[in-house]
Amino acid sequence: MFIKIEQKSEHKVPKRNSRPFVSVARGAEMFRELLSYRRLYRDDDEFFTMGEMWEDLASDIDEVSIKFFEDRDGECLKRAGVIHFDGRTTLVLPQSSLTKAKRGSRFVNFTLAHEFSHVALGHHDDKPRIMNFQLSDEMIRKNLPPTVEEYEANLGAIFLQCGVALFDTTLSPATLAARAYTEEHYVKNAMRICRLNEFRQELEKLAQDRPRVVL
Ligand SMILES: [Zn+2]
Repeated sequence: MFIKIEQKSEHKVPKRNSRPFVSVARGAEMFRELLSYRRLYRDDDEFFTMGEMWEDLASDIDEVSIKFFEDRDGECLKRAGVIHFDGRTTLVLPQSSLTKAKRGSRFVNFTLAHEFSHVALGHHDDKPRIMNFQLSDEMIRKNLPPTVEEYEANLGAIFLQCGVALFDTTLSPATLAARAYTEEHYVKNAMRICRLNEFRQELEKLAQDRPRVVL
């Protein structure tokens, strides 16, 4: 079974056949991976801004750093990105974006979680490279066709920000998105995926093979 990762309508990809798909098994693996990072950082019922998380990572881990550049023209996130090279990860962004994230900006927090997911899911591993933030409409247009990695990073961002709360049927996407400082549309999509029987079955299989995630 495959999960179609839905995009916001304004981000629709013109060529239908170029839409990437992520298997349910892959989705479950990703959930397990991102949840393990989340659990190293906070309890399941705690939510946090990605500004805090990146700052904590940079202060606690030698291989992670944050580098600021001046945001002269309000271009903001368009030129920001993550550089992963030789085992080191550097988040490069205007200081104002980090401040916005810490104040709760959902767009910036989602974007910083998206970047974290690229690193966590090993998207940087095959070659040293710079991954630019690609979430503005302009960047999405420039980046057509979208890659599976971008879809994975979007889904991984929500797994990281929300964790097991995605399975909580008493929470609406709007409530959870507000608590987790993230984008409602993507929370809705991730909730739909997490509630598929096949997804839960895959997670159970993974838990049996390597008992790390307990749901
Ligand atoms: Zn990306």
